[in-house]
Amino acid sequence: MSDQFQRALDETLPLLKKIQSGLKLPPSASRSALQRLGKFAAKAASQAAPAPAGPSVAASAADLPPFDALRAAVLVCTKCPHLAASRTQVVFGVGNPDADLMFVGEAPGADEDEQGEPFVGRAGQLLTKIIQAMGFDRSDIYIANVLKCRPDMPAGESGNRKPKPAEMATCLPWLKEQIRLVKPRALVALGATAVEGLVGDTSPMRDLRGRWLEFEGIPLMVTYHPAYLLRNQSVSEKRKVWEDMLLVLEKLGHKITPKQRRFFTADA
Ligand code: SF4
Repeated sequence: MSDQFQRALDETLPLLKKIQSGLKLPPSASRSALQRLGKFAAKAASQAAPAPAGPSVAASAADLPPFDALRAAVLVCTKCPHLAASRTQVVFGVGNPDADLMFVGEAPGADEDEQGEPFVGRAGQLLTKIIQAMGFDRSDIYIANVLKCRPDMPAGESGNRKPKPAEMATCLPWLKEQIRLVKPRALVALGATAVEGLVGDTSPMRDLRGRWLEFEGIPLMVTYHPAYLLRNQSVSEKRKVWEDMLLVLEKLGHKITPKQRRFFTADA
């Protein structure tokens, strides 16, 4: 065992022992300790000389299926040091890695950072309802963000901030690889920031929404972020998002029922 890996274990084992001995640590502390161990193990593995015989950390990482290997790499990413320092955890993505349909948002908020899953707050619950109205289960779809760490906030400020273009550009290769492995037949960008992060288009949403763009050869529908619908509860705005989802269902070749066609209309 290399000195470096031994040092990594020395640094993280006390935390793991506390968890093992039943101390009621908050979930974020447990995750953070495990992430630290993973980070050190990955670093040690990447720098270790190839072992002549027997299993090694590097070999077992290479043995992972591609999607799991990608997840393992992203979970310990520190390409944005300021975000790696402020995050509770990386929010990789959730859902079916063989999904036909993938939703892409902008970045984790406080709830997502805490729970490690995209779209789990109020906006996420609304997205789940939209997915169900389309005839899917949330687990049928894949959901991810352009930025995989929560944008940090100035000291003393709460809430969420919009990711910066440079942050999204740094993280985009992870999402590109995720999309390459999921191979969805259609993508949906949720909100203007997601569109900017994916394709660099900064046009206003009124010009983008309801249009098919393309991302790496995959049809990309643009619609409002569910948080916008929470702020603007008018039926006409809900109908716009729903019309976008009907276009997605048509693109995927799904049968649309008369009831689905009438959602958010006067005769619904
Ligand atoms: S935002 Fe993306 S690129 Fe930056 S540290 Fe997080 S996972 Fe890495």
